[in-house]
Amino acid sequence: MSEEVKMEKLPKFLPSCHKEAENLDIIFTCSGAASVGKIGHEVGVLLTNAGQNARLCCTTAVAAGSEMHLDIGKRARKVIVIDGCPMKCATKVIEKAGIKINHNFTVTDFGIAKQPTLDISDEDVLKVALAIAEKVGMKLNVKP
Ligand code: SF4
Repeated sequence: MSEEVKMEKLPKFLPSCHKEAENLDIIFTCSGAASVGKIGHEVGVLLTNAGQNARLCCTTAVAAGSEMHLDIGKRARKVIVIDGCPMKCATKVIEKAGIKINHNFTVTDFGIAKQPTLDISDEDVLKVALAIAEKVGMKLNVKP
């Protein structure tokens, strides 16, 4: 017997970043293993889910030399990079790949300290996401 599929439980499918790169603000995050790296990643998720035509893409694939991901970065409408801390690992990866960065952010610049934990607060994610959305001119469909 087949299981009933509840529509509201289905995942939100994202646009294909390779097919639609020219129409998308492509977001690369460092996704580092510290509080601010995780905040940066979650900010990328929020901008993807609540922004317009914004799409988190695979920074690690760029670092690994994936031609498809290099191509996405080069064709993107805009490239937004979000690093956790001043080490700026994602920025280094994207620059080394020859991809032009339009907007560059570091979570610690928003007054959030780097901590050795992956327990982060929704408030910090929202605060950084709203600030970045404002700076890049993106409407974010969330209630602050
Ligand atoms: S930028 Fe900082 S938080 Fe991000 S991966 Fe590098 S060292 Fe980790």
